[in-house]
Amino acid sequence: MYRETRKAWRRRQKRRQMLQGILTVAVLVAAVAGSVPVINALTGRDVVALVSEQSKKERPDGIMADILPEESSSAAAETAPVPETTAAPETEAPEPETEAWSGNPAEAPGWNLILVNRKHPIPEGYQVPEFTELRNDNRVDSRIYPDLQEMFDDMRAEGLIPYITSSYRSGEKQQSLMDQKIEDYEAEGNSHSDAVALAEKWVAIPGTSEHQLGLSVDISSGDKEKQEPSIVWEWLNRNCWKYGFVQRYPEDKTDVTGIIDEPWHYRYVGKEAAKEMTELGVVLEEYLAR
Ligand SMILES: [Zn+2]
Repeated sequence: MYRETRKAWRRRQKRRQMLQGILTVAVLVAAVAGSVPVINALTGRDVVALVSEQSKKERPDGIMADILPEESSSAAAETAPVPETTAAPETEAPEPETEAWSGNPAEAPGWNLILVNRKHPIPEGYQVPEFTELRNDNRVDSRIYPDLQEMFDDMRAEGLIPYITSSYRSGEKQQSLMDQKIEDYEAEGNSHSDAVALAEKWVAIPGTSEHQLGLSVDISSGDKEKQEPSIVWEWLNRNCWKYGFVQRYPEDKTDVTGIIDEPWHYRYVGKEAAKEMTELGVVLEEYLAR
C-alpha cells in the first residue's frame, strides 16, 4: 500500500515536472514570437533603442563613424562660408540671354538691363566697348553718356549742383576699395573675419559691383555748403527715369537688392525700362523676374 502510494506520488511528480516544462517552453515561444512590448516587459529593456544604437555605430556608406578624426569636423565648421550679412535677394532673375551670344557680353542685346549683384557676378569677358571720359578721372560707357549729360544739363538749369563721385571702376579698383575697407575695420580692433563681414556690407565684392559695368554713377552735391546732397537726390528721384536712369538701391527694397539704401547710386537701364520700373515701383531684380 505504502509502495503503491509512493509510486503514484512519483508519477504525479513526473507529470507535474513535464507540465512545468511544457509551460516554460510555451511561455518562451510566446515571448520570442510576441511583439517588442512583450520582450520589453520581460527584459525591462528597450529593444528598439538597442537596435538603433547598434546601427548608429556604422554609417550608411559602411565607414565606421569612429574613424572620422575630430579635427576634420571642427575644421569644416571653421571653413564653412560666412553667412551673408545683408539680406539676400528673394526674387530670382531669369538666366541672362547669353546662350546665343558668343561675343562681348557688354554688347549683347539687352546690355543695359544686365543684372549684377551677389548672385549674378559680371559675366566673364565683359568689356565696356567704349568709354567717355568725364571730369575728375571719371568715365562711363559711351552709350549712356548723352542721356547722362542731358540729365546734368537740366539739373544745372534748375540751379542744382550735381557732382559725380564715382562711375566706372575696374575689378582691381573694386578690390582695392574692399581691401582698404577691411583694413579700416581691422584697425578699429575687429578680427579679420569680422572686418571682412563688415566691409562687405559697404563695399560690393569684386565682380559683383555694378560700377564695373560702366553703367552706374554715384551722384552727390558738388558744393555741400551751398547745397545738401539730399536736394540733388530728391530731384533725381523724381526725374531720373526720363533720362533712362533708376535709383538702383532704394530704402524699401533692401530685402530684394541685398544692398543698403544708397540714394546716390543711379543705374542706366534705358528710357523704356526706366519708365516702366518707375511706374511699377520695382527694382531691376523684380523687373527681370516678371
Ligand atoms: Zn554706387
